[in-house]
Amino acid sequence: MLEPPFPELDDLLKMMGEAGRHLAEIEASEGAAGNISVCMRWPVEPRTRFPVASQIELPQPVPELTGSTFLVSGSGRRLRELIDTPTASIACIVVNEGGQTGTLYSAYHRRFEQVTSEFNSHLAVHYDQICSSDTNFHAVIHAQPVHLTFLSHIPRYEDEAYLNRHLLRWQPETIINLPEGIGFIPFRLPGSPELMAANVEALRSHRIVIWAKHGVMARSDVSVKRAADRVEYAETAAKYEFLNLSTGEIGTGLSEAEIQTICQTFNVEQTIF
Ligand SMILES: [Zn+2]
Repeated sequence: MLEPPFPELDDLLKMMGEAGRHLAEIEASEGAAGNISVCMRWPVEPRTRFPVASQIELPQPVPELTGSTFLVSGSGRRLRELIDTPTASIACIVVNEGGQTGTLYSAYHRRFEQVTSEFNSHLAVHYDQICSSDTNFHAVIHAQPVHLTFLSHIPRYEDEAYLNRHLLRWQPETIINLPEGIGFIPFRLPGSPELMAANVEALRSHRIVIWAKHGVMARSDVSVKRAADRVEYAETAAKYEFLNLSTGEIGTGLSEAEIQTICQTFNVEQTIF
């Protein structure tokens, strides 16, 4: 939830660009992999930056979001290039009355035909989170960080308790930033209704979820950069875990007692350790 004064359209486009560039820097977005969207519920005038308007069917009806504005990365656009000319790679969608359709605003120089094919998963999460928390802002990122995704190919990390007890043991910050741990969804076809449903469910109780053998989705109701931070915290934990596996598991990580002391000191409520 954000308090006024709300960020301007240009500020949000810049933050999406910076988040996209950073995700590429941490090897979480090769080629055109990954996508970003934000939802704002305060009034926005899109036509100053996105003068071309067309009508689209939304992937699902979102009647409670009538009048809300989305900024969504375009299909096939590279996250690392969003920052160069954000309006060439990002579209703006305002939800029409009734929530079945939207007005898609874009720039004359846009370099994509449609918004990301993962917009169905993004919209479902925005809708679920906004309806349950009544937040006026929500950001969602899909990225493909190498180490987290690699670990999702190793059967024992499919167990969420095992996954979290192993990944959240390497730095004090990890449990503080991800107190609910990292969610895990078994492999589902990209863009499928099955992935969409499992993703919404997992993100109710986690800030970030692994899509097995594919990547992650993270959310934030504060900023798009906060969502990107969550990808980075989880990916850094996976890097430590990978490092430990590749050195014959010589590291022990923080002990359960050490993590519990950290949680007591910083008032972190968690059920992992
Ligand atoms: Zn993907």
